[in-house]
Amino acid sequence: MAQKITIAIDGWSSCGKSTLAKDLAKALNYIYVDSGAMYRGVTLFAMRSGWINNDEIDELQLKTALDQIKIAFTLNQSGNPELLLNDENVEDEIRSLEVSQQVSKVAAIKEVRNFLVDQQRRMGQSGGVVMDGRDIGSVVFPNAELKLFVTAEPEVRAKRRYHELKEKGQRVAEQDVIDNINERDHLDANRSESPLIQTEDAVVVDNTNLDREEQLEKAKALANKYISE
Ligand code: C5P
Repeated sequence: MAQKITIAIDGWSSCGKSTLAKDLAKALNYIYVDSGAMYRGVTLFAMRSGWINNDEIDELQLKTALDQIKIAFTLNQSGNPELLLNDENVEDEIRSLEVSQQVSKVAAIKEVRNFLVDQQRRMGQSGGVVMDGRDIGSVVFPNAELKLFVTAEPEVRAKRRYHELKEKGQRVAEQDVIDNINERDHLDANRSESPLIQTEDAVVVDNTNLDREEQLEKAKALANKYISE
């Protein structure tokens, strides 16, 4: 039987890494873990608790309440994971622009990261996992057999994200989406805890001019090299 490897996919906001990770996991029959959804879940919990006001986070309250936050995934009818926050399906809410506007600040908190990284490592401990995020190849699975760093030109990313939100029926201004992507990229790349980096051993996948199928084929070819080795 082919060996089950660990695949880490990192990259900038809205660069298509979740789509790729999802497609790759399906193609290989692996588990897909969207680590960004977990940070979004914690953010939603903090927002609902009233601990984020005027862009300020009450970090102390959040840190001391982490053990009250249960994050899990359930599979929907199409086999795609949806986030459960304390057993409630919050998949739609965590994708809102309101959550996107706060999540990178929450994700910069060391205790939040430790809390989620522990769970992410447990989810991937038996291999056969594709996980996407910002620190998967650098921190969560530094020994992953395959690391991909996904990128696309900023205008392309902003357009994709805007259309995605619109398709979901969310009324957002394109400029707000662009501003949010830029702000998150800046915060994610410049924070002191586990900033987004491209590790030396990561293979870059620039999908500016690739469609969904093409980027999957490219990633599958890379993965198969390690799986059959
Ligand atoms: O992947 P997604 O864009 O949904 O992630 C939302 C946010 O969560 C990112 O902008 C980043 O601030 C944070 N994140 C992170 N580390 C990860 C995954 C996401 O800091 N591994």
